[in-house]
Amino acid sequence: MRVSTATSSRSDSRMFSVVVQGYGSAQPRQAERTINVPFSGLQPLMQSISRLGGKVLSVVPASSEAAAPSTSQAPAKPAAAKSSAKAAAKPAAKATPTAKKPAAAASVSHADVPVNLYKPKDPFVGTVTENYSLLADGAIGRVNHITFDLKGGDPQLHYVEGQSIGIIPDGEDANGKPHKLRLYSIASTRHGDDMAGNTVSLCVRQLQYEKDGETINGVCSTFLCDIQAGAKVKITGPVGKEMLLPADEDANVIMLATGTGIAPMRTYLRRMFEPAEREKNGWQFKGKAWLFMGAPTTANLLYDDDFNRYEREFPDNFRYTKAISREQQNAKGGRMYIQDRVSENADEIFAMIENPKTHVYMCGLRGMEPGIDEAMTAAAAAKGLNWSELRPALKKAERWHVETY
Ligand SMILES: Cc1cc2nc3c(=O)[nH]c(=O)nc-3n(C[C@H](O)[C@H](O)[C@H](O)COP(=O)(O)OP(=O)(O)OC[C@H]3O[C@@H](n4cnc5c(N)ncnc54)[C@H](O)[C@@H]3O)c2cc1C
Repeated sequence: MRVSTATSSRSDSRMFSVVVQGYGSAQPRQAERTINVPFSGLQPLMQSISRLGGKVLSVVPASSEAAAPSTSQAPAKPAAAKSSAKAAAKPAAKATPTAKKPAAAASVSHADVPVNLYKPKDPFVGTVTENYSLLADGAIGRVNHITFDLKGGDPQLHYVEGQSIGIIPDGEDANGKPHKLRLYSIASTRHGDDMAGNTVSLCVRQLQYEKDGETINGVCSTFLCDIQAGAKVKITGPVGKEMLLPADEDANVIMLATGTGIAPMRTYLRRMFEPAEREKNGWQFKGKAWLFMGAPTTANLLYDDDFNRYEREFPDNFRYTKAISREQQNAKGGRMYIQDRVSENADEIFAMIENPKTHVYMCGLRGMEPGIDEAMTAAAAAKGLNWSELRPALKKAERWHVETY
């Protein structure tokens, strides 16, 4: 099997519709407008929007229904490209991955990728709006969904699906120094759970282990799981470009998640299938999304109701495969882990991977990697392929995305 490095088919003649807020001197700050540009005009337009403080709400192929201009129509060639030939010649702004590598052009509709708007020395102080358990009765451990209000920041802390934020827990370490930040994958889409664009949510498992007969609680995860609505929390970031979704509406997305590794997958799936998100995005996912979720018990499945609903409502686009280790058995009679589900479905997974529009995302505890690797090695070998060559090729093509911790 050849691994194509192409992530989407495109030519310079393709037109895109960019919906932007607060851009253009004749527009009121909050006004939205739609600008149609050829592919070659996208980069200068993005630079201009970024320079003038506008916010890109969506970028879709102009042929798409969602791209139908709802407000003003700009000339095909953006003013920015005319007024600043110098800017057009420059590489894209650092925070924008579009121009860096060809494959990242798939991120065009997510072009406004913010990085490190807030750093540890001067973090944003967010307010907890809610904190609730994601687990059902009988589950093992403690996993909470925690939401922070981000209003009032200058700049406003914003992010895209697949990024993480840092949390600096209150208090001091054993040396009397302030605690260091811990990273958490963002579990909400850029619109936030309330769709107003002012919140960020996390999915946090409390770290707990035994040492010398004593139960040790993780500092930050316990801080977060215990926190009450109204509390103030120091937040940094956002960070990360490894787990960004492709912009292509026809992309296929295979997701391998264990435990809180579901956080980025929840953002993708909400973006793809949550009706309010689809309406707001102007991005109508048409590919195939396949979530493999590993959990010890049914009670430990996270966001399970939502995913079941997506599967019911979008049976042609979404498939949800669970590996529940303490309740299900694999073919050998052992516990069913996510890698067993990968092995069971290897033919279909490999058929999907042959398509250059297919991306694979893996997230969860680092310990899941060897099992997945083993399953892929065996499945590849059965097809006469060498996974140790194939995986780096997929990685190079920016189609193999891993965030484990
Ligand atoms: C990119 C990224 C994304 C992440 N996303 C998430 C997420 O979405 N949700 C989430 O819950 N976590 C996530 N994490 C993990 C998170 O950053 C913290 O590492 C985790 O919450 C533990 O932090 P803590 O402060 O509670 O533990 P700490 O107090 O920092 O304790 C951790 C330390 O305890 C020790 N330790 C841990 N387990 C054992 C053991 N069994 N025996 C002995 N010693 C042990 C190790 O020394 C370890 O370094 C992510 C990490 C990264 C890097």
